[in-house]
Amino acid sequence: MSRKTSKAFKACLKCRALVTIEAETCPVCGSKDFTTEWSGVIIVFDPEKSAVAKLLGIKTPGRYAIKVGA
Ligand SMILES: [Zn+2]
Repeated sequence: MSRKTSKAFKACLKCRALVTIEAETCPVCGSKDFTTEWSGVIIVFDPEKSAVAKLLGIKTPGRYAIKVGA
């Protein structure tokens, strides 16, 4: 597992959702602003019960970047 896979995804600048590089709009918030400068991944199954999701303001289940931006 030495291959770098992080750049297979980009993060939504508005809600931090991780989408594939090819995606044009964010499936979570509909934004078209993305960045490949992100780090850390959190997978949210139940935003209601996840303290981290609440901390990050995540309301929709999915895969998110913990840190967005350079
Ligand atoms: Zn978004």
